[in-house]
Amino acid sequence: MRILLSALLLALVTACGPESSDTSTPETAASESVEDESLETAEPAAAEPARLVVYTSRQPHLIEPLFNRYTEQTGIDVDYINDNEAALIERLDAEGSETVADVFMTVDAGNLWHAAERGLLLPIDSESLNAAVPKALRDDQGRWFGLSVRARTIVYHPERVDAEALSTYEALAGEAWDGRLCLRTSQKVYNQSLVAMLIEQHGEANTEEIVRGWVDNLATEPFSSDTRLIEAIEAGQCDVGIVNSYYLGRKLVEDADYPVTLFWANQETTGTHVNVSGAGVTRHAPRPEAARALLEWLASPEAQAEFAQNNLEFPVNPNVEPRGIVKEWGEFRADDTPLQIAGERQAQAVRLMDRAGYR
Ligand code: FE
Repeated sequence: MRILLSALLLALVTACGPESSDTSTPETAASESVEDESLETAEPAAAEPARLVVYTSRQPHLIEPLFNRYTEQTGIDVDYINDNEAALIERLDAEGSETVADVFMTVDAGNLWHAAERGLLLPIDSESLNAAVPKALRDDQGRWFGLSVRARTIVYHPERVDAEALSTYEALAGEAWDGRLCLRTSQKVYNQSLVAMLIEQHGEANTEEIVRGWVDNLATEPFSSDTRLIEAIEAGQCDVGIVNSYYLGRKLVEDADYPVTLFWANQETTGTHVNVSGAGVTRHAPRPEAARALLEWLASPEAQAEFAQNNLEFPVNPNVEPRGIVKEWGEFRADDTPLQIAGERQAQAVRLMDRAGYR
């Protein structure tokens, strides 16, 4: 696996990792400055392609080990360009049929859905992907597939909150949590997807009530990251919040006694909200068959455990067990509402959160 020179340049001009950034700025100067000189010598597509190109917003340390292993096994180099998802979507769109990208890989069904709606992803019908990835975690037209599962759930301070008092996302709008709740900004797609799913389940008016309740209960302004939110609970700024479980996992790997605890939300109702990181074959992929084979491999048992574990996520393939801290959290019931709803209702969710005063 070789990281493209352009991607290295990008890394230098990007202040923080794409995944850790909240404010998506599609028109980053970085994407403009990227040159594809390193690709000009590319050999024309052949029956046995020696390389694939992935556009990805995922942090390099999460994907590089997998790409390297794929290269060892197949002889196919997997190069990638790393930027935030909005910049990559714009780039794919602008490049059209001239693109060098075979695969688009990012986080959150909301982002994958958006790329699919823009016509940037190729529908693929793969028996092995359909078998490896549960239906709710992939596009029904085969334009994108979840490759790892992240749970967005409740976390709390075990000394200030009795787990018995916790139940659902919806209940965090109740009076018991007045001045005790922390949230991440509504600008983050993770929260847009969560609220989109609530709209699907409760309708718009009821969901707006819930979100207003959250806003009323806030202990402080919404945070720019899940990590800051977790640290605010530790510091006593608030008692309870909603985050993706792997952010807490990172804290617990550093310090097993970290005083913030995970609670599986909505176990008696809809199930915990899950989302994915995932990928699709690009509409104008120079090597679509090889791109499909890479996705099939990433969803296979062989790659799944590591793919999920690198970011303390859950394997998307139900035949693969999570490991370590993720396994210790125990099994939970996940919401099985098709994730493409998160995309379809995203704009509605954004407007609703705005009306409810959730910033
Ligand atoms: Fe994240």
